[in-house]
Amino acid sequence: MPLNIVRNDITKMNVDAIVNAANERLLGGGGVDGAIHRAAGPGLLAECRTLNGCRTGDAKITKGYDLPAKYVIHTVGPVYRDGRHGEEELLISCYRKSLEIAKEKELESIAFPLISAGVYGYPKQEAFDVAVSVIRDFLKDNDMTVYLVVFDPDMLAISKKQFSEIREYISDAVVRRRMEAERYRTPEGNRTEARSAPPTVGGALPQSQVSGLFRKRKKDIQKKKTAAEGIHKAEAEQTEACFLSDESLSDWLKKSDESWQTMLFRCIDERKLTDPEVYRRANIDRKLFSKIRSNADYKASKPTVLALGLALKLPRKELDELLMKAGFALSDSNVFDLIISYFINRGEYDVMKINEALFSFDQSLLGNI
Ligand code: ADP
Repeated sequence: MPLNIVRNDITKMNVDAIVNAANERLLGGGGVDGAIHRAAGPGLLAECRTLNGCRTGDAKITKGYDLPAKYVIHTVGPVYRDGRHGEEELLISCYRKSLEIAKEKELESIAFPLISAGVYGYPKQEAFDVAVSVIRDFLKDNDMTVYLVVFDPDMLAISKKQFSEIREYISDAVVRRRMEAERYRTPEGNRTEARSAPPTVGGALPQSQVSGLFRKRKKDIQKKKTAAEGIHKAEAEQTEACFLSDESLSDWLKKSDESWQTMLFRCIDERKLTDPEVYRRANIDRKLFSKIRSNADYKASKPTVLALGLALKLPRKELDELLMKAGFALSDSNVFDLIISYFINRGEYDVMKINEALFSFDQSLLGNI
């Protein structure tokens, strides 16, 4: 996945380079800097001594020593005063310079902590937004896997506040589901009956009560059958109407036979988009996308298919169709699906924005999984 937000200790990340939120002397310190030096061992400090420090907003690279990462890119974030002392420009520069160094070294993966968001006091949500925006910008023209490592649990609390509307949407859906469940109970109250009814008809109930139950059950079944027939009839009429008015029969048949990949590539062509535009918007890497292009039997995950559908801004009906062809569906009974529905209903298709919300609710992210 090109941009992945993870909750982790950066010193444990198995990537080409981790970024250190260092100070200008580059001789180690507290916070993430201290953790990185401890995990890398004395070799790191020895190499840092040869670098003659680093200016705020700039970055320098060393080897990773005992870390799982091959390299450490040391960058110096701004100390936050009031936001009017060039803090944002300097923070942007930290991410840009680090990414440039990684690109020069032809690294494939890099992990950032939230630079300046600790002791240097940059407001966490703003620091996060700056990071996401610079990384996304970079990923428009570059193929690299970038991890944004969010360490503090209170970061989550901030995002949750921001996404209170989503929480409301989720709880509304739960209430809606409960009400629907109530509505589908028989007027007499199935629950009481189910509890008091015997597990089998051959129980100790008197014969008259047993036949009464039978008659009632039969009536219920008939009622449900009639309702179902009504729905099927309406659906059949609708489908027929669709045949007659909207599309020619042969076109319709062609589309109904499409695999999810064929549908995906047809939609890309119809929207006159290029492959890189689509996979970057979808937060999917080039390698996975070419697998989907070249292997007609490729079984993609639900987050991947969803991300591609969102990257194409498919209307809900078409998105459901794409998902169905790939063997998936969006339901209103799990948080992941509800968050996606929340954004689609509002016509918001920005995969990264949706991922921030998913991350805040501890869900897996959209992209290649
Ligand atoms: P700064 O001085 O730039 O603010 P800090 O090290 O104080 O740097 O904090 C930067 C960010 O790194 C903070 O959000 C902090 O919570 C986070 N952090 C601290 N330790 C780790 C770690 N081991 N892995 C990932 N992030 C960490």
